[in-house]
Amino acid sequence: MSQTHVVTVVDPSTQQAEADWQLSVEWITLRIRWFGLIVGYLVVNTLSPVEHRGALNGILCVGAGYALLDLVWHWRGEVFLSRFPLFISLMEAFFIGLLCYFDKGIDSFFRYYYFLSLLVCAIRYSPFVAYSTFAMHATSYSMLVFTLTSATLDQVGTLVLMIVFMGWTTWASTSLTILLRETGRKLTALNRNLEDRIARRTRDLQQSQALLIQGEKQAAFGLLAAGIAHEVGNPLAAISSLVQLMNRKKLEPEMHERLGLVDEQLLRIQRTLRELIEFSRPGLQQITRFDVHDVINNALNIAKYYKRKKGKTITTRFAEELPQVSAVRDQILQVFLNLILNAMDATSEGGTIEIETRFVESSLLISFRDNGRGIAEEEREKLFEPYFTTKSTGTGLGLFICRNILTAMNGEIRLQESLLGRTTFVVMLPVLPEYESLTV
Ligand code: ADP
Ligand code: MG
Repeated sequence: MSQTHVVTVVDPSTQQAEADWQLSVEWITLRIRWFGLIVGYLVVNTLSPVEHRGALNGILCVGAGYALLDLVWHWRGEVFLSRFPLFISLMEAFFIGLLCYFDKGIDSFFRYYYFLSLLVCAIRYSPFVAYSTFAMHATSYSMLVFTLTSATLDQVGTLVLMIVFMGWTTWASTSLTILLRETGRKLTALNRNLEDRIARRTRDLQQSQALLIQGEKQAAFGLLAAGIAHEVGNPLAAISSLVQLMNRKKLEPEMHERLGLVDEQLLRIQRTLRELIEFSRPGLQQITRFDVHDVINNALNIAKYYKRKKGKTITTRFAEELPQVSAVRDQILQVFLNLILNAMDATSEGGTIEIETRFVESSLLISFRDNGRGIAEEEREKLFEPYFTTKSTGTGLGLFICRNILTAMNGEIRLQESLLGRTTFVVMLPVLPEYESLTV
């Protein structure tokens, strides 16, 4: 048999606000109650003589005992008998009735206690409890009128007036309390909203800061690379022409061969330098149309200089007819390179990395799959956050920058799967409809 559980989820901060409200209200009512007791005691013992002073003091003592329990509970951070408000009201109606009974009947000073009790009840409890208390107090006072007096027109008039004023007090204090509670609730909601907004803004700020720092670093690296290229490139060119000059001279064939080898190596160094400079110079931010396969090859060409490339196989599976994409070429190159380098970091010697392209529903899908260490479940949700890295020399900005670049151009990057030995990141690049027919 199936069972349905209804679970009411109460937000902890709302619960806390409600508890705080209860305690503050309790503190107000406690003081009002003690004030009433002291005034009552003074009235009974200092003003005009009353017949049943002993009984009245006794009832006041019971009231003080109750107020004391209330106070102790308050110090413990709880509300005394909070679950039985109607029982408290009933006791109050009874005791106030008794006080009036032993004092001067329906004209007793203690009849004002009904108002005090209603006020306290309205600010502490729900309107239902407040109006029920009103009904009890009205009954209590009516019983006084009908048991102590002969219920003349005057006395019934007093009763009606008392009931009207009691109702009035209940109404006014209940309305005020509802208003206060509503305002409090709205303020709490506003506050929470504000906290959320501040948290969001802070995160945005951190992200733009990360982007800025990365931009600065890249610019500095570009300048340095250009400087190094100049410093190394010029002597290299000089050495190369000297070698060529020497090679034109009449030398032993073995020497010619060696000089040829030296020149070949020099050319290789120059090519490497050129490629690195090409990559590190501050790129053009212009949108152009290009072939994605070219950019992947370009990224692979640069990645081959990476130390960790050693012993790893990279295979490509390119789709046959792929439309061109419109984007900032350098940025896409950066995305691909980041993914390739990450895959290299994740694999150990002998590992393989597979790059595959596909064209599906107006998008180019480029997947980067490696058979490396995989990504632990708890790491997955943090992958694209700035500064999240598990490497001692990592920046944690690679995937974050990739996502920024791609979302800015309506593209996408996501982790498709990640098991031990099979991790796939997929990049989606949108293709504008007018380019779809223009295959490469
Ligand atoms: P970084 O490479 O500087 O650490 P990234 O943003 O490029 O920063 O990557 C963040 C983290 O994501 C890496 O530190 C790594 O733990 C994890 N990661 C990224 N790609 C892979 C992958 N192919 N295999 C396993 N972990 C990966
Ligand atoms: Mg990286």
